[in-house]
Amino acid sequence: MRSGRTRYIGRAVILGAAIAIQPTDPGAQTPTPTPAAQAPPSRASILRGEYGRYRANNDLLYYHLDVRVDTTKQTIAGKNTIRFRMLQDDTRIQIDLWADLKVDKILLGTTPLKYERELGAVFIDFPATLKKGKSYAIDFYYSGAPIPTGRFGGFTVKKDNAGRQWIYTACEGEGSSFWWPSKDQWRDEVESMDISVEVPSTLVEVSNGRFVKKTDLGDGYTRWDWAVHYPINSYDVSINATDYVHFEDKLGDVTLDFWATPENLEKAKTQFAQAKPMIEAFKHFFGEYPFAKDGYKLIEVPYTGMEHQSAVTYGNGYRNGYGGRDWTGVGISPKFDFIIIHESGHEWFGNAVSAADVSDMWIHEGWTTYLENLYVEHRFGYADALKYVNGYKSKVRNREPIVTQRGIHRSPPQDMYFKGALFLNTLRSVVNDDQRWWKLLHDFFQHFKYQNILTEDVIAYFNAQLGAQLGRDLTPIFNQYLRRTDLPVLELAFNQSEGTVAYRWKADERDFAMPIRVGTADSWQVIQPTTDWKVMKTSLNKDTFDVATDLFYVNVSKQ
Ligand SMILES: [Zn+2]
Repeated sequence: MRSGRTRYIGRAVILGAAIAIQPTDPGAQTPTPTPAAQAPPSRASILRGEYGRYRANNDLLYYHLDVRVDTTKQTIAGKNTIRFRMLQDDTRIQIDLWADLKVDKILLGTTPLKYERELGAVFIDFPATLKKGKSYAIDFYYSGAPIPTGRFGGFTVKKDNAGRQWIYTACEGEGSSFWWPSKDQWRDEVESMDISVEVPSTLVEVSNGRFVKKTDLGDGYTRWDWAVHYPINSYDVSINATDYVHFEDKLGDVTLDFWATPENLEKAKTQFAQAKPMIEAFKHFFGEYPFAKDGYKLIEVPYTGMEHQSAVTYGNGYRNGYGGRDWTGVGISPKFDFIIIHESGHEWFGNAVSAADVSDMWIHEGWTTYLENLYVEHRFGYADALKYVNGYKSKVRNREPIVTQRGIHRSPPQDMYFKGALFLNTLRSVVNDDQRWWKLLHDFFQHFKYQNILTEDVIAYFNAQLGAQLGRDLTPIFNQYLRRTDLPVLELAFNQSEGTVAYRWKADERDFAMPIRVGTADSWQVIQPTTDWKVMKTSLNKDTFDVATDLFYVNVSKQ
């Protein structure tokens, strides 16, 4: 998802209090709602966020979501077939479905199962013990009318002002269980999925994965079947239907399918051409497009956009920049379509490499924001990239750490985007060897592709690859940027009569030690400050002694 104005994790009636996080919209910057972010979690958010016994006792294998959307009644009904393997002997599992949707029945084969609902959780009980190592499948039938909520609606069936019928879902904040029964958490993903959606025959329905077939059901409805051949985050699962027109292209073996409304077809043909250089750029850095069997799709929708896996949705108005604006305010953003680059970048970070808890969402957003920067470097050169990434400084708040509490489904502050990207740019400067940096990025992605990981996994990987070379444990650097509020400050104390400068890091991490370039831009000198004072000679004074703050995101204090 892109950063945006306050997005509600849930309807107040269900969560008690909405957990509002994602703050600002470009051009409408509002302060981060820190107090709300630090409020105690509700029972509902724990039920959603905690990887408790009845989730941890099983491993998802497969979903078949099979639903009909009634555009007249604005309802959804159908079933999800859930196949899972038990990791422990047990008689109960947790599946999630919003409290205002109805559970029609849950079957194991032909046997109806008992269940207990608590807020958004459905605890399903089995008549006999499910055995560790064995696989089971249940059919979870449900129905109801999700009421659009939050920024992108979660689940929306509506006619727009022009009278066009839309059905679309975008539920990263609300969660997949907002509109379908699923294991609504981030740690576990199915290995593959089928999606069948019945919509009025006047509509074209596009979901994730590879198109399989469409079937006219003879009752005014057509069923669209899609097959996902990879692990998928449940919030990525998406329905998009309107009177779409389609065009296609290819990049090597990757099929590119584009879906636009008829009146935007010509604009789409021009704008969506940016998908090719985007895929080429990210392939250059990270390797092949990670969902080739499913292909790449770009689908017009009436909201800004979302990284739905292999079915990226697009609502940027067929304009460069972000909503036509210069997103980082330094003249680079108008060179490309922000939504195409950002949301598609999530195919690598977010969809292929996924965070295992929402607390670690910087693995999606910090990395993908950094990918924008890599795209700029690949397409337009290093100078533009450096300008672009530093443009993000104006969006950083430094009011709370990027990594939030685990297990309570609390979205991190928007710093995860911009500070996250600036941190990665800083790490490149710490490595100070671009060949090594590019290889590290590539290998990191390939190592964790199709996995759900935590910040600890990222740190361990970087330490294993870099620690020996750099002669240091990188953990305090990661911790200072991700788990602490304040930026490190390079403290410089000049002694003119001695011709020296004393320097140290002021940081919350006692072991924070990060090299940095100082002196003058045409001949930077690398120094190795720690949190203890060191003294060096310099012919420069307080005014002429510079610090490479465009390469290292730090504050500098001179005395
Ligand atoms: Zn995003």
